[in-house]
Amino acid sequence: MAGTFRAILLEKGEGAPSRRIAELTEAELMDGDVTVAVSHSTINYKDGLALTGAAPVVRRWPMIPGIDFAGVVETSSHDGFKPGDKVVLNGWGTGETHLGGYAGKSRVKGDWLVPLPSAFTAAEAMAIGTAGYTAMLAVLALEKNGVTPSSGPVLVTGAAGGVGSVAIALLAKLGFEVIASTGRAEEEGYLKGLGAASIIPRSELGGDVRPLNKERWAGVVDSVGSKTLANALGSTKYGGTVAACGLAQGMDLPGSVAPFILRGVTLAGIDSVMAPKAKRLEAWSRLATDLDTAKIAAMSSTVGLETVMGMGPDILAGKVRGRVIVDVNA
Ligand code: NDP
Repeated sequence: MAGTFRAILLEKGEGAPSRRIAELTEAELMDGDVTVAVSHSTINYKDGLALTGAAPVVRRWPMIPGIDFAGVVETSSHDGFKPGDKVVLNGWGTGETHLGGYAGKSRVKGDWLVPLPSAFTAAEAMAIGTAGYTAMLAVLALEKNGVTPSSGPVLVTGAAGGVGSVAIALLAKLGFEVIASTGRAEEEGYLKGLGAASIIPRSELGGDVRPLNKERWAGVVDSVGSKTLANALGSTKYGGTVAACGLAQGMDLPGSVAPFILRGVTLAGIDSVMAPKAKRLEAWSRLATDLDTAKIAAMSSTVGLETVMGMGPDILAGKVRGRVIVDVNA
C-alpha cells in the first residue's frame, strides 16, 4: 500500500509477547528529527530477549524490535543530516523504549545516528551491528589499557557468537594471538578461518571458579559473564585487562578480588547502548580500517522479516553462528 511500510510488531501478551508483521504508516512512528528509510537490520542477543519476552527489555507497547538499523535519510530537521545521507544506528533504546529497526522506516533523534562508513554497505554495517561495534569497543578498551600483541594472547569467550566472531576477526587483523573459547567444537574451522590461533572448550572456563590460576592471557573479550568471566580473570597475566561486555552464561560474577589486588588486572566494563557519539564514531572508523569485508562475508547470513521473527529462541540458546543480516524489504 502506498505510504505504508512493513514492520514486526510486538504486542504485550500474558506470557510471551505476540508477534506479527504489520503494515504501518509514518504517523505511527515516534518523535524524532530524522526519518530514515531502513534497508537492513540484524539480530543481537538482546533482540532475542525482546522477541521471546525472556527478559523485560521491551518497555513500550506495542514495540517494533530491532536495536540496530542502517538506511538512507528521507527527511531531516537535524543539522548533521540531509535527505540521501546513509546512516547507521546502534542502541539508544531502539527496540526497547523507542520503535526499532525491524521496519521499513524509523524516526529517531539525529544525535543517535552515525554516518555509514564508506568502507561498508548497509548490509555489511548490519553484519557488524551492535555485536560487532561492541566487539570494537572491547578491543579499544584493551588497547587503551596497554594490551598489545607482544603482551601475550587474548582470550575471546562466546567465540562463535556475534560479539565473539567480530572480536576474533579484529584481534587477528591487529596481530594478536587469539584463543577462542566455544561450546561448539564443530565450529573450529569457522573460528580458525576468522583468525583464532587455538580453541578451548567452553567447559574449561564455565565450571567451578578458581579465583587465581596459571597466567595464560594478557587480555580478554568476554561476552559470557558469570563463572566464565571469573575464571578468565583468574588466568589473566599480571597487568592484563579483561573487557566484560556480556552475560550469555549469567549476570553474576562469582570470583574474588585476587586478580585485581595481586596481579593488577583491570576489569573494563563495556556498554554500547548509551556510549557517547565520539566513542561510536571512533569505533566505526576503526571497524572500517580493521575489519576485512571478506571476514564479514564469512561470518554472516541474510534473512527477511518473517524469518527473524522466529529466531529469538535460537540466539538465546547460542545456536546462531556469527551474524545475521535482516533485509527488511525481503
Ligand atoms: P550471541 O548469542 O551471538 O553469542 C553469545 C555466545 O555465547 C554464543 O554463541 C555461545 O558461544 C556463548 N554462550 C551462549 N550460552 C552460553 C552459556 N550458557 N555459557 C557459556 N557460553 C554461552 O550473542 P551476542 O554475541 O550478540 O551477544 C553476546 C553477549 O553480549 C550477550 O550477553 C549480549 O547481551 C551482550 N552484549 C552486550 C552489549 C553491551 O553493550 N555491553 C552489546 C552487545 C551484546 P559459543 O557457542 O561459541 O560457546
